Amino acid sequence: REVAQSIVEALEVLRATASEHQEYFGKLDAVAGDGDHGQGMAFGTRGAAEAARAALDKGAGARTVLLHAGDAWAEEAGGTSGALWGAALTAAGSVFDDARGTTPDDVVRALLTGTDAIRRLGGAEPGDKTMVDAIVPFREALETEFQASSDAAESTGRAAAVAREAADATADITARLGRSRVLGEKSVGTPDPGAISFSLLMAALADHFG
Ligand code: ADP
Ligand code: MG
Ligand code: MG
Repeated sequence: REVAQSIVEALEVLRATASEHQEYFGKLDAVAGDGDHGQGMAFGTRGAAEAARAALDKGAGARTVLLHAGDAWAEEAGGTSGALWGAALTAAGSVFDDARGTTPDDVVRALLTGTDAIRRLGGAEPGDKTMVDAIVPFREALETEFQASSDAAESTGRAAAVAREAADATADITARLGRSRVLGEKSVGTPDPGAISFSLLMAALADHFG
C-alpha cells in the first residue's frame, strides 16, 4: 500500500517532467522523426499517473497499480515509445508483490526489469540511435552504484547522469531504427528524443526520492 502510494507519486513526477519538456521532446523528434514525442510522453505519463491513482484509490497494490499504469501509458501515448514505456511499467510491476512490503533492492530490480523489457521488446541494439543508447549505460551504472551504496535514489541519480551523457552522445549517430531511419542523415547533430526523455525522467525520479 505504501509502495503503491510511492509509485503513484513517481508517476506524477514523470508526468510533470514530461509536460515541462514537452516542447523540447517534440522539437528533437521533428528533426528526423514525426515530431510527436513530446505529445506522446505528455499523454502517456498523464494516462499512467491517472490510471495509477484510480487503481490506488480502489485499494490496488504496487503490482496492480503498475500494470494499469503501463496499459494506460501505451494506450494514451500511441507510438513506439509509448508501447515500450507501457511494457516497461508492466514488467517493473512484476517485481512487486501486492501483499508484501518493499526494499531498496526491489526498487532497483524494478528499474532493471523495466528497462530490460524495453530492450527485449524493441529489439534495438546500442548504436541504433534509440533510447537503448541511454538505457544500457544507465543499467550498468545503476547496478554498480547500488552495489557500492545500497542507496536506490542516489544510485538512480548517478545512473541518470550517465544516461544523460550517453543520450547527448547519440547526436553523433545516424539513425537506423524507428521512423527516423528514412531521414537518418538528417538526425546527425541532434540527439535521439527517446534517449533524452529517458535520461531526464530518471533524473527527475532520483531528485524527487533523493
Ligand atoms: P514514434 O516513433 O512512434 O513517433 P515517439 O516519437 O514517441 O514514437 O518515440 C520515438 C523514440 O522511440 C525514439 O527517439 C527512440 O528513442 C524510441 N524507439 C523507436 N524505436 C525503438 C526501438 N525499436 N527500441 C527502443 N526504442 C525505440
Ligand atoms: Mg515520433
Ligand atoms: Mg509517431
